[in-house]
Amino acid sequence: MDLFWHRRDLRVADNVGLSAAADHGPIVPCFVLDDAVLEYAGPPRVRYLLASLAELRDAYRERGSDLIVGRGDPAEIIPQLAAALGADRAVWNRGYSGLARERDARVEESLAASLGAESPDVETHHDAVLHDPDSIRTNKGDPYSVFTYYWKKWRDRDKAPPASTPSSGDLLDAERLRAVVDDIAADLDADDTTISVGTLPTIADLGFAEPEADPISAGTAGARDRLSSFVEADIFRYEALRDVPAASATSDLSQDLSFGTIGPREVYAATEDAMERAAAGDADDAVADLEGGDADSEEVDPVSSVREFRSQLAWREFYLQVLFHNPGTVSRNYKSYEHPIDWRDDPDTLAAWKRGETGYPIVDAGMRQLRTEADMHNRVRMIVASFLTKDLLVDWREGYAHFREHLRDHDTANDVGGWQWAASTGTDAQPYFRIFNPMTQGERYDPDAGYITTHVPELRGVDPDLIHDWHELDPDRREAVAPAYPAPIVDHAERREDALATFEAARGEA
Ligand code: FAD
Repeated sequence: MDLFWHRRDLRVADNVGLSAAADHGPIVPCFVLDDAVLEYAGPPRVRYLLASLAELRDAYRERGSDLIVGRGDPAEIIPQLAAALGADRAVWNRGYSGLARERDARVEESLAASLGAESPDVETHHDAVLHDPDSIRTNKGDPYSVFTYYWKKWRDRDKAPPASTPSSGDLLDAERLRAVVDDIAADLDADDTTISVGTLPTIADLGFAEPEADPISAGTAGARDRLSSFVEADIFRYEALRDVPAASATSDLSQDLSFGTIGPREVYAATEDAMERAAAGDADDAVADLEGGDADSEEVDPVSSVREFRSQLAWREFYLQVLFHNPGTVSRNYKSYEHPIDWRDDPDTLAAWKRGETGYPIVDAGMRQLRTEADMHNRVRMIVASFLTKDLLVDWREGYAHFREHLRDHDTANDVGGWQWAASTGTDAQPYFRIFNPMTQGERYDPDAGYITTHVPELRGVDPDLIHDWHELDPDRREAVAPAYPAPIVDHAERREDALATFEAARGEA
């Protein structure tokens, strides 16, 4: 008997650990709602998690089994379940953050301490990635800190196909599973630990408010819908449109990859099909659509677009290996400067940034999209992060905490990676003096202001040129054009100089 512990792998398909457990079987699947993890979650993620768990449970029910749902400390629940089942093995897929690794070590110790000689073998697998974080290193044997070199190795390595899906014969049937849980449930200290078969709490039971943003379809079904619609056409024009927020032409798979409702091997296999179609010229319709539309003069190359999408999958694994090798960078700068960076403690501008009321239209559009959709386009994440850390000189950890609460796709490695990149404290080789200009970024990536006006209603109907020149308009003009929209809270040109001086001081050059 194998106890399989689901964590960030909320699926039965393409699940390496689950598929390996099926080799011995029968499998007893469980998930533990861990307060230590929930402490760092925000409402959009908790809702997506609960909906995905319901789908996972139903996938087991369709196979004649069910999902055991525990709430409490996994270091107590996993040994209790293993003991009651007389499990031969406890199997799970590895987590790579410092917190996940500490928790897993604690669970393993507690299994050994409480069950002694009866303790099941612990078997762990690499599942969340195509290449495990320790497997791609420089020729000298060091972990990579420069993406371009990492990417070359990642790209050229063979990729495993999707792992096989267990069938009903591999799983413990629901009746036996219920009998085991009834036995344990009677002995539990019900106050802080609960175990049930398939019963999920509501979001309010977990102490979270209903999110402001509308839900999206969760679980593997939602993820597969997004993947199949993406590889139909958008993947072939990804290179040209991935930076255009109004085009909504990216895969939207980040929450799925983050919670593991879809496996990376399945996503990669879809890119292989797409690559074949692109190479055979079958992607021409998707490209013709774009060329007939309003794509500037940009060349659209389907093969290189598929490759570009794969490189984003590699970015995800790059940041994961950075975090794996440097777990402390979740709260500390990756790059060390001579002196501490003199971040400003400025609650008013921070609050204006969070509300999307900075008077910089593309920044405000992004921050409002975050509230209303629990999401933000990648290009705009870079712009708002640069604005917070360079224009407002606020510590990136403030922005990270806000994103962590509001993003549905929050993922420690990617979020820390993205923030430290923008703050010039990360692995990135780019120097600190790269500071995004929010006006030219808006003009370049949202020339018609379609994205801006979707999220900032006060600017609807305003000439896009005026929107992109908002910082230069005099107060009377602003009042006449869009009276409800705020004036810029800071002067970008001035703040750029301040940021340069601050970083030069941190480098010991001032
Ligand atoms: P696509 O463009 O379709 O890319 C496919 C997948 O590749 C994504 O789903 C994601 O898993 C991965 N990916 C894409 N871009 C990046 C990137 N720059 N870094 C790492 N992986 C990437 N991504 C998260 O998944 N979670 C986060 O919490 C997160 N926080 C970010 C914070 C900042 C400040 C910045 C600048 C970026 C952040 N990103 C984060 C990366 C990126 O913005 C999102 O992954 C992307 O917007 C998700 O949209 P998509 O699924 O349509 O991506």
